[in-house]
Amino acid sequence: MAENSRQQWLSPEMTPLPKPPGHVSGLFGIDRGLFLLPSRIAVDVTRRQAIGFISHAHMDHAAHHALALCTETTARLVRHRLGNVTTKVMPWGQPIEVAGHVLKALPAGHIFGSAMLYTEHQRGSVLYTGDFRLEESATAEPAELCQADYLIMECTFGHPRYRLPPRATVIEMLIEKVTQSISRGATPVISAYVLGKSQEVTKILTSAGIPVLQDPAVYEISQIYQEAGCDLGDFRLYSGRPVPGCAVIVPPRSVTAGGLPGALHVERFHVTGWAMDPRRQRTAPNDHWIPLSDHADFDQLLTAVEQVSPKAVFCTHGPKSFVEELRSRGHDARWLE
Ligand SMILES: [Zn+2]
Ligand SMILES: [Zn+2]
Repeated sequence: MAENSRQQWLSPEMTPLPKPPGHVSGLFGIDRGLFLLPSRIAVDVTRRQAIGFISHAHMDHAAHHALALCTETTARLVRHRLGNVTTKVMPWGQPIEVAGHVLKALPAGHIFGSAMLYTEHQRGSVLYTGDFRLEESATAEPAELCQADYLIMECTFGHPRYRLPPRATVIEMLIEKVTQSISRGATPVISAYVLGKSQEVTKILTSAGIPVLQDPAVYEISQIYQEAGCDLGDFRLYSGRPVPGCAVIVPPRSVTAGGLPGALHVERFHVTGWAMDPRRQRTAPNDHWIPLSDHADFDQLLTAVEQVSPKAVFCTHGPKSFVEELRSRGHDARWLE
């Protein structure tokens, strides 16, 4: 099937189309990344392109494009990570016209500023989710799905083993375990991705009255959150010495690399959606594992498909078995790579 070829261009009807790229019509195509057709606007492509939509500032979605289309917050974060990128800001929900496409950014609920991309063409409408989550977030704008003919969906947790406990339970667990750790005289050291999860955990803890100290890499990004209007409460830079009553947030690698400089009695926390998987927890059974995710879990993925109610779903990331899962539920689903 054409799906196996390195470079393919797909019509909405999935008819394999003739090459070379750019000489065919259709709504979108794959050329080591996703492109809108016929304009060839890149969508989360990680190589420099003339025009590229960047859904959010995680580096598996961004590149130093000649012109980057993104939200205001993502523009700030992308500049922090990649330098002086020229951007065209997409205001939430307002259509803009670029290279013959009408494009709209809708909140994706993944991290602060993260966006889905909605586009209309005479051939039909497309919703590209990028990384998304339907559950509420302490820092990201709530996700907004809309009906579209074709749904291109990120399916990281597309297996029934990935079902999150209710968010309120997870937050309660986090606050309770961190509080207990502090009362035992330990320093709770929380490992979380520097962009997104760290800031969300900071906001959750400071809202519960627990001040947070941050590793410099986390702190720099938190400053950008603040400047862009997301208040994270009482947080400071970790100075190399723990402060009684405070939690410390560090990037994932530093917590496994032998504790925290300056701290004697450390209790380690991993705040990640992967904590849903007991196999992951067994890698460090003495640590605390908190299943707080910034991606949609299995049930949220199914909900998203129901809500968008597309003619066809194109799955990216995650297990390929999710395509079968959707087909068994009566959807026209395909794997997009
Ligand atoms: Zn992401
Ligand atoms: Zn991603």
